[in-house]
Amino acid sequence: MSATTQPILAEYRAGGTDLSERRRTGVSRGQVRDVPRTGPDAPGSDLVRRADGGLTLGALVSIDTLATDPAVRDRYPALALAAGALATPQIRRVGTVGGSLLQHNRCWYYRHPETSCLKKGGDDCPARAGDHRYGALFDLGPCVAVHPSTLGAALLTYDATVTTDRRELSVADLFGDGRDGRRDHQLDPGELLTAVHLPEARTGERGAYHRATSRRYAEWPLVEATARVVLDGDRIAFAAVAVGAVAPIPLRLPAVEALITGATVTPDLLGQAGARAADGATGLPQTEYKRDLLAATVTEVLEQATR
Ligand SMILES: Cc1cc2nc3c(=O)[nH]c(=O)nc-3n(C[C@H](O)[C@H](O)[C@H](O)COP(=O)(O)OP(=O)(O)OC[C@H]3O[C@@H](n4cnc5c(N)ncnc54)[C@H](O)[C@@H]3O)c2cc1C
Repeated sequence: MSATTQPILAEYRAGGTDLSERRRTGVSRGQVRDVPRTGPDAPGSDLVRRADGGLTLGALVSIDTLATDPAVRDRYPALALAAGALATPQIRRVGTVGGSLLQHNRCWYYRHPETSCLKKGGDDCPARAGDHRYGALFDLGPCVAVHPSTLGAALLTYDATVTTDRRELSVADLFGDGRDGRRDHQLDPGELLTAVHLPEARTGERGAYHRATSRRYAEWPLVEATARVVLDGDRIAFAAVAVGAVAPIPLRLPAVEALITGATVTPDLLGQAGARAADGATGLPQTEYKRDLLAATVTEVLEQATR
């Protein structure tokens, strides 16, 4: 297969941990512009507590700050745990919130400079007929690569919104519905992500993050899950659960949330919740193994959150 020439468009560089690799291999060939640090639309690198009780994360806030900031750990524990579990300490210190959400997928066909694919302007997804062992369990569109953003899934559980230099949209809309196989996110070329907005944390909120990996260190997950829970005694008064690495977009799991909200926490309930997690998954020949992994991961993250 021949490489497809990409259009020449400036791509923003924040921490550069994803972009630099694509530049080095020639997968990204256009112009590069550093994310502006000054000026009216410059993304901040601070956490700002808003008057409505919510928290705004500047797009240049580091992943490490999310993982370690005492206020985030206290009020948004699921987000802090997800941030602290991804990549390596070095990447977390350099990588930013914006770059984490807008990083490109890790499919080896996409990352290979000599291979054409939908996300590089090609006509089809070579992974679908090829080796897609790390691909989607939820086959939502023509591209079978999974979305790589751990923070994307975590932020879905907060119904977070983002602002760009052009508009405001939900994190869910930032990723779309997975049917457009040509892109990893819905921002237009040249559009600058400036901030992420979290609503006020819930009183007594608990959080957990869990991932299944094929290697213990410095590896993307095979399946990952983030859960937020508020307990009223033994009863689950509120639950939000989202998973990653199983679809072309991070996925919220409304069927799981509906099953456990209002119910009393028991091992049986959490097992049933895990079993529900793959509802609607069509699977691919080489990704069926993710079905059981997803069930176990969701059960585990809920056990941790309700413990
Ligand atoms: C070994 C390893 C393991 C990893 N494991 C995980 C993991 O488990 N989960 C996970 O989520 N990630 C993982 N990562 C990826 C890592 O999280 C990303 O590389 C990092 O978050 C990217 O942030 P950055 O600021 O360096 O982005 P950059 O590389 O600077 O940019 C990434 C993309 O986002 C765009 N962009 C960045 N900021 C903006 C902005 N403000 N506005 C518009 N566009 C912007 C850039 O143009 C580029 O296309 C891993 C990386 C490595 C090396």
